[in-house]
Amino acid sequence: MVDKSQAYEDKFKGCIVGLSIGDALGMPVEWFTRSQIEEMGGISEYIDPINKFKDILKAGDYTDDTEQTLALANAFDKNGYNEDKFIENLLYWYNHNPIGIGPTSSKALENLSKGIKNGMPSETCGSAMRTAPLGLFYFDNLSKLVEKSISVTKLTHNSPNAIAGALSISFVVSKCLIHGIAHNTYDKYRLEKGGFDDGLGAIEKLRDVYEKDVGAFLNRDLEDDDISKYEHPEASHSTYSKIIEYNKNIIDKKRMEKGYDPILFIGERDIKRPYEYPEFRQTIEDCSHLLIDTSIEFSEKIVDILEICENAHNNNYDKKVILEGYDKLGTGINAIEAVPSAIFSFMISNSFESSLLNSINAGGDTDSIGSMCGALAGTYYGFNAIPKKWINDLSNHEHIINTSINLYNLKVMD
Ligand SMILES: [Mg+2]
Repeated sequence: MVDKSQAYEDKFKGCIVGLSIGDALGMPVEWFTRSQIEEMGGISEYIDPINKFKDILKAGDYTDDTEQTLALANAFDKNGYNEDKFIENLLYWYNHNPIGIGPTSSKALENLSKGIKNGMPSETCGSAMRTAPLGLFYFDNLSKLVEKSISVTKLTHNSPNAIAGALSISFVVSKCLIHGIAHNTYDKYRLEKGGFDDGLGAIEKLRDVYEKDVGAFLNRDLEDDDISKYEHPEASHSTYSKIIEYNKNIIDKKRMEKGYDPILFIGERDIKRPYEYPEFRQTIEDCSHLLIDTSIEFSEKIVDILEICENAHNNNYDKKVILEGYDKLGTGINAIEAVPSAIFSFMISNSFESSLLNSINAGGDTDSIGSMCGALAGTYYGFNAIPKKWINDLSNHEHIINTSINLYNLKVMD
């Protein structure tokens, strides 16, 4: 049986460290086109920057994406996100040579320093790139996840698509955590038992393991159940009722009951890419639903990811087809391009490493797409699945790891 605390801590660390690694891998080629990156042999490790960061940063350094994520991750207390602390952290960074700061953040932070909190009417991914910690902390509380993702974004990026991008990242991170723990539980159990061929007993034991974990409520008749018995010991009391309310209201109930049976998914598991799991396809659909009130355009773009993934899948993940997928989604700085490309990279790859390399070698806003993809892949695969060399050669990695552990400790604090 998986040690729950360890499993959760591994996901928190994986998310924040994974995000930083994606930033550091993408930093040297930010704004290079795909063909330019290809001409130099592709990116497969940290290199010294050959763009605007030349002679400013070195291999393994990260940029604003990580800095702002750390500013957010360090703005929590045991009650959750603290806006005053986040603003204080952002302004501290802004006032100490903020390398790589984007044009929107620059103006917005100048305003914030004067107490103006309205943000700029910007459509970039400047907030989506930093909201992953909200997906971790509020993975069990959808209404808070939504509320905080919106308010964190509006401080600097006040536009429907920027907000939709931030919501997408925090929402998908929360699902990466939940599905990742379920899959790890299965893997551990399968390794211990040597498979599930010993009949119903093993399935029942797995169900027992799973029901004690966060996905417990998902395979129940949500309407009639006493939800308190599925409560995660580390979660606040009302959180599941809010998620269930959301599920009832927005998602077709029959589909939920079928689609979210973790035993069915886990039983089918012999495939490796997130897209190939029904629960991740459902996650993308749910994400699209979640965005309808914020931006129809963004909501539809999220659905496009599924179609493009399906096409890649049907073509055996042929490189040409995957690259056409990036062309359709776009790899620019705007949230409506960068966020779907980051999610797409994660969905069609089968490891932390390949997720990151796919996302960066697609070109464009490589550090932001890499960091958002790194947050998803790092959460799903966990810290222990990240190549040690990428961790050891990442600048300030101990500080980044400690920040993620601190966030985890706050989450599980009574
Ligand atoms: Mg950057």
